[in-house]
Amino acid sequence: MNIILLGPPGAGKGTQAHILVERRGMVQLSTGDMLREAKDSGTEMGKRVAEVMARGDLVTDEIVIGLIREKIKGANGGGFIFDGFPRTLAQADALGELLAETGQSLDAVVEMRVDDDALVARITARSTCGGCGEVYNDITKPWPADGKCANCGSTDVRRRADDNEDSLRQRLMEYYKKTSPLIGYYHAKGKLRPVDGLGEIDEVAAAIDAALS
Ligand code: AMP
Repeated sequence: MNIILLGPPGAGKGTQAHILVERRGMVQLSTGDMLREAKDSGTEMGKRVAEVMARGDLVTDEIVIGLIREKIKGANGGGFIFDGFPRTLAQADALGELLAETGQSLDAVVEMRVDDDALVARITARSTCGGCGEVYNDITKPWPADGKCANCGSTDVRRRADDNEDSLRQRLMEYYKKTSPLIGYYHAKGKLRPVDGLGEIDEVAAAIDAALS
């Protein structure tokens, strides 16, 4: 099963993707994680996108489609979870073509619905494990008191450079202008599965399970 997790920044896409990886053996493809890796390892492309990401703008379609093209060729275990991709109609068209070229298809698009106030609160409290990508929240899921990630034991707690209010405002604007049209696009294709993303992590996970069955 190949699925897209669609929703604004802070909707909980990464958190739910990790749960799907654990429970269903799916493979998470997060273009945000791939771009941050490129930035941290100092590649030419990473240097070019660093400023764009810090501002909260979208990276070019060409770059992100190129990243996904490489990954889609590989093994997909229990299926791919596209997390943060596609974010534009051009990316959505490209994904459809890439999947068709490799004899695969898209099964469902889970739209995670969360209101804007909740997004701001979540994002400003968010941290991520540098070892495994596990997502923490200062209030609802704090970093363990022993200083070690509960999932992998790493002590590398990170806050994203773009998790600040200015950048978040711009990321939300980009979402509403360029990404939200995908809701209609996938609805028309009969793939859309809306889920309330506001509840506790386990409740949202159960809602996604139900939407996928
Ligand atoms: P994310 O981790 O998904 O919140 O992505 C962080 C940042 O990476 C975004 O604000 C964009 O600058 C960039 N990015 C990630 N995925 C995409 C995409 N599919 N298209 C364009 N830019 C992206």
